[in-house]
Amino acid sequence: MTSTTPVNAGRATGTPGTIGGVAGAPPAARAAALLERVTGGADSAPAEMTAPFTGLPIATLPQATDADTRAAFAGARRAQPGWAAMPATERQQVLIRLHDLILRHQDEVLDLVQVEAGKSRLDAFDEVAATALVAAYYGKHSARLLAPRRAAGVIPVLTRAGEVRHPKGVVGVISPWNYPLALTAMDVLPALAAGNAVVQKPDNQTALSALWLHELAERAELPADAWQVVLGRGSRIGDAIVEESDYVCFTGSTPTGKHLAGQIARRLTGYSLELGGKNPMVVLPGADVAKAAAGAVAACFSSAGQLCVSVERIYVHESIREAFTQAFVRRTQALRLGATLDYSAGMGSLTSAEQLDTVSAHVADARANGATVLTGGRPRPDLGPLFYEPTILTGVTERARLFAEETFGPVVAVYGYTDVDEAVERANDTPFGLNASVWSGDQRHGWEVATRLKAGTVNVNEGFAATFGSVGVPMGGMKESGVGRRNAAEGLLKYTESQSIAVQRGFRLRPFRGMPPKLWAKGMTASMRALRRLPGR
Ligand code: NAP
Repeated sequence: MTSTTPVNAGRATGTPGTIGGVAGAPPAARAAALLERVTGGADSAPAEMTAPFTGLPIATLPQATDADTRAAFAGARRAQPGWAAMPATERQQVLIRLHDLILRHQDEVLDLVQVEAGKSRLDAFDEVAATALVAAYYGKHSARLLAPRRAAGVIPVLTRAGEVRHPKGVVGVISPWNYPLALTAMDVLPALAAGNAVVQKPDNQTALSALWLHELAERAELPADAWQVVLGRGSRIGDAIVEESDYVCFTGSTPTGKHLAGQIARRLTGYSLELGGKNPMVVLPGADVAKAAAGAVAACFSSAGQLCVSVERIYVHESIREAFTQAFVRRTQALRLGATLDYSAGMGSLTSAEQLDTVSAHVADARANGATVLTGGRPRPDLGPLFYEPTILTGVTERARLFAEETFGPVVAVYGYTDVDEAVERANDTPFGLNASVWSGDQRHGWEVATRLKAGTVNVNEGFAATFGSVGVPMGGMKESGVGRRNAAEGLLKYTESQSIAVQRGFRLRPFRGMPPKLWAKGMTASMRALRRLPGR
């Protein structure tokens, strides 16, 4: 079965004076105003970015030099002590105000995210929702999570022990282009909540979305300079970021993550890496086929598959493979593609020409190596320069690049299996371990299979949104998908230094004067035997 997708939600018309020439987008002057928030810009070669929907210019972006970047860190370092000295409950209030502002002013940033990243409005709304959820979570919980903690001391009553959390100092955050608003929020806001200052390098392609949040944070009364934004290619300013940061939070591809980890290791500072994936979905026998098919559409084609946690491999039990595949193809063909700043389209465009090249090359290579295209499989220049149809493949062989490599586009391979152990083994047979999805008619069984999948997040009867939105649990990658976690307590505490303090009273932890050491050791041995039985130790 080979067919094309009847997609027709419309093409963006070039409109002079708007950002990216996209009809309905904010005026170009708004981009210029946001860009005034950037620190530095002395590089003699500014970057020209274009809108995926139209191919027309978004803005000319000032680029930082190495010296500009170090100056941004110096400014952040000056601002940090004052911000850290503020009670954590007051810092929380900034995030709560930010949460309210995000929801109130979402229309403008929905436009910006769509114009810069080329995604559908619903996919852009996912970013607004994630941003608000993160702001609310740390706005409500960070003071409690950061509060000093008492612990049992070595000698009950006489040793008072506790743990105190200090901010790292200035955190360097490097962000990719695919979720420019949400990833800015998920990585920058907890760093600020912990009392750090931040220097962020968003991707040039999507800098305006990050700057929009920066502007709103200032309106929420974040002190000026506590969060600085620099723009520039990693190859130009990456060294300065690594050398000046007290902690680096990187989100992007696995090769860049490995390169940065090598650099950071030489300084012995902390880091977290949120990297790539090749995320599997396992449909168990007895799963609701219609729900699994609908879930697969969202899991594979949200943000045109340019989502780190999106599904690129589906393993379906043979007993339901045919029914699932038919339903999946049907629902995919019903997806409307479009380039308009409203909710009429189900899927948008790819973001860059490089992405279009990779997606086209992966599909061509899979075909050449025996795969069949069930739907999609071609670019759609009639809708916009970077559109590519949502594509379902079957019969993908191990020779195909996309069998194991991340495509990061709207392309998924469907495979059959006969035994659940085999499905788990094949799902785990990858160097990556970011996200996974399990579909089951029995939630307990779904949970049990989830625990056997080697991925940092696993969604049962959902593709990715259940864990992505549950910011009270950590998110991150196993294996080559990352180091460390974002969200929840871990996503905050990674930005702190833990300090243990113990106050000793009335009893030295050494033999009393004149006491034979052997007798001391004997007494301590008896004490430890008794202490082990004490509750709470
Ligand atoms: P990328 O090429 O690694 O770039 C990510 C960011 O790092 C960009 O801002 C990039 O800027 C910067 N960068 C590149 N080289 C650098 C260097 N030497 N020093 C400092 N910064 C440097 O990744 P991408 O292609 O933009 O993003 C897609 C990848 O990110 C996919 O693999 C996806 O799975 C992954 N991702 C993971 C998560 C997650 O949470 N796990 C989330 C989103 C995306 P320049 O390109 O301008 O240099």
